[in-house]
Amino acid sequence: MKKDFDILVVGAGPAGIAAAIAAAENGLRVGVVDDSPSPGGQIWRRGTQPPTAARRWNDRFEAAAVVRMMGWRVIDCLRLTPEGGILRAECNTPGVQPADLHFRHLILATGARERFLPFPGWTLPNVMGAGGLDAMVRGGLPIEGKRVVIAGTGPLLLAVAAQLTAHGASVVAICEQASLAQMAPLALALLRQPGKLLQGAKYRWATRKTPFFTRCWPAAALAEPNPGPGSENEPQPRLQAVTLHREGKQWTVACDYLACGFHLVPNTELASLLGSRIQDGFVVTDQQMRTSIPAVWCAGEPTGIGGVDASLLEGRIAGLSAAGKTEAARALSKRRPGMQAFARALERACRLDPRLRELADDQTIVCRCEDVRMAALRGRSGWRDAKLHTRCGMGPCQGRVCGGAAEFLFGWSAGHAHPPLYPARVSSLMEEAEEEAMAASSSHPAIEPE
Ligand SMILES: Cc1cc2nc3c(=O)[nH]c(=O)nc-3n(C[C@H](O)[C@H](O)[C@H](O)COP(=O)(O)OP(=O)(O)OC[C@H]3O[C@@H](n4cnc5c(N)ncnc54)[C@H](O)[C@@H]3O)c2cc1C
Repeated sequence: MKKDFDILVVGAGPAGIAAAIAAAENGLRVGVVDDSPSPGGQIWRRGTQPPTAARRWNDRFEAAAVVRMMGWRVIDCLRLTPEGGILRAECNTPGVQPADLHFRHLILATGARERFLPFPGWTLPNVMGAGGLDAMVRGGLPIEGKRVVIAGTGPLLLAVAAQLTAHGASVVAICEQASLAQMAPLALALLRQPGKLLQGAKYRWATRKTPFFTRCWPAAALAEPNPGPGSENEPQPRLQAVTLHREGKQWTVACDYLACGFHLVPNTELASLLGSRIQDGFVVTDQQMRTSIPAVWCAGEPTGIGGVDASLLEGRIAGLSAAGKTEAARALSKRRPGMQAFARALERACRLDPRLRELADDQTIVCRCEDVRMAALRGRSGWRDAKLHTRCGMGPCQGRVCGGAAEFLFGWSAGHAHPPLYPARVSSLMEEAEEEAMAASSSHPAIEPE
């Protein structure tokens, strides 16, 4: 299947939605592709009643002349020149043919994911990402009366605690790994973002009965004692409690869920595949959100973790700029430095305590797709060495979970991304290989015998 757009946006979170609307309102043929079944990204995708701002953006997105490809994920780039290119996308519904998305301009709005850190017991059922548990609850997981411990770092912890409390969960502890001193500059930056300050205060008020510990993290998740060897139907070990660590002291708290998230890791794989410049983990752009590659823009969390307002602003700038409305984009970009300052303050506040590197023991699984334990990774020279010798990062998530952990634990960077960006169907890969072979043969025509 072939589709042709003036502007193609990858990602339908706040940044992608704002970019698509800005471009479509200027009369361009716009396509938006997102892996999820519905638009909205991390924050607006699911939810009983989205906030007013979200509803407004969603309504504008619905009304805009945009081709929406929900449930499609971009797996490869087939061609990229300064005049445009082709991305290959695969549909999550089995049996649907892959699509080649032709574009003149491309806007990457691929967002970020949670960072997980390994500690003994982190692979037990009911230990999950903070944003992940939040999404499951919004999707219908019954949480009423369940005891939840929330741990990690960043404002997401408080947001999730408030959301789960509102759904009737008993949040028994919020554990922030950073110290108060480390977070103080963020509080100052928040003074310049009154909306966020108010939101944070609302979240804390909603969770006022829950103790909030700083410099505190999970040392181990504990399972209910396994009844021992038995039949094939032997029950899986279930989370029973978590041992928390704070200032040299440890204590155990009973819980049904442990929700962990150590801030966010930007999704830069597609930008890396296209060859865009990445520095300190983030995609580098100019003030118009243009990347180092002509025809490619980037907006939202891959350029810096600054929250929903920053993603919306950058999306609008990118959409206008890609649509050729450079003056309007320039005017908007004057509001960016304040948001960038907030993103930098957030990054510093969430800097991980080096002692978190010692949580995993030799037997702790680091790559849960391929069951690679800490002992197998110690002494490896880098990500490539670990991949080749242990299969770390080679499973279905392609290092999206263990990559962020390995970066913190060992200082390994994932390096240049390779296609397919996600595990792809054999039929998609075969079709791509056949097309490449045909293109090669047409550019080197067989020599006819005289
Ligand atoms: C539970 C939770 C609560 C939050 N609460 C707040 C809050 O109160 N205030 C606040 O400011 N922020 C909050 N945030 C953060 C907020 O969600 C983000 O700042 C915002 O969503 C970022 O928008 P984005 O468009 O940059 O990225 P995202 O929302 O992450 O959207 C990126 C999209 O790109 C898609 N994508 C990525 N790669 C591909 C690919 N290869 N092919 C197809 N699709 C792809 C993803 O599926 C995703 O839908 C919260 C986040 C969470 C998880």
